Formats: sequence, structure tokens, C-alpha cells
Amino acid sequence: MSGEKEEKCIFCDIVSGKAPAHRVYESEHALVILDIHPYTKGHCLVLSKKHVPWWHQLTGEETADLFQAANTVANRMMKTYKPDFVFLYARGRRIPHTHLFLIPTYGGDVLDRFFNALENFQESPAQLAALKDPALMAQAARELSEAE
Ligand SMILES: [Zn+2]
Repeated sequence: MSGEKEEKCIFCDIVSGKAPAHRVYESEHALVILDIHPYTKGHCLVLSKKHVPWWHQLTGEETADLFQAANTVANRMMKTYKPDFVFLYARGRRIPHTHLFLIPTYGGDVLDRFFNALENFQESPAQLAALKDPALMAQAARELSEAE
């Protein structure tokens, strides 16, 4: 949030009130707003008030406040929308200003399926490698060559 910064940052503008947002919660170091492209109803972004690209560039106090804000709003989501759980992740590739995604998630919805697919992918190399076992390969060759 320094004056010399040339680049325009939409999250800095929201934090300072120059840009509009649906504000949900505010604390000393964090501001929680609705995401304008929600995955589910109530999908929020937890912004740090300080402009840093990555969440791990915050001080300990700022980090604690950011996650406390996420915790407060997640509990409100659980009470209000009764999702199966509230999903949280931090990435920051598209807008280089620290923000946590806070998303009410239901079993089988798009995010749940996406992360299930990721987990399956994570586990698949071991399963695929096991198929290359020489004894298994010999067995498969025998089964297919002897099949009628
Ligand atoms: Zn910013």
C-alpha cells in the first residue's frame, strides 16, 4: 500500500474502499469479501490488508489475524448454509495480493470432485508403477496370449 507503487491492485482498492465489494467481515489485518465469481453461495475471499503477493510474507501477527478472520467467517458459513465443510486454500497466481479462498463445500460438488480427482492423480503413479512389475507383466502377457 505504498505511494510509489505503480501497479494497480484491485484488492488494495477494495481494502481502501476505492473499489466496491460485498464486505462480510473486517479485522485489524484482514478483510473478508464475497468472491464475484462464486463456486457456491457464500464463497468468500479473505484479503490481507497489506499488499504482499504470498501469504507467507505476512508477519506472524498478520497471519494469525488472517486465519482468525477465515475461522470466524467459516463458522458463520457452517451455521448459515450448513455445507459439509468449508474449504480453504491460498494460491495467488492470478492476483498477486494475498487472499484465501473460503468456500462452503458439499460432497460431490465441483470443488469436491476436482480435489478428489487431484488426490486420485496423486496416488496413481504408485498404482501405475506397480503394473510394470515383471511378474505382473508376464502374467498379463500369458493371460492375453492364452485367451480364446
Ligand atoms: Zn494489493
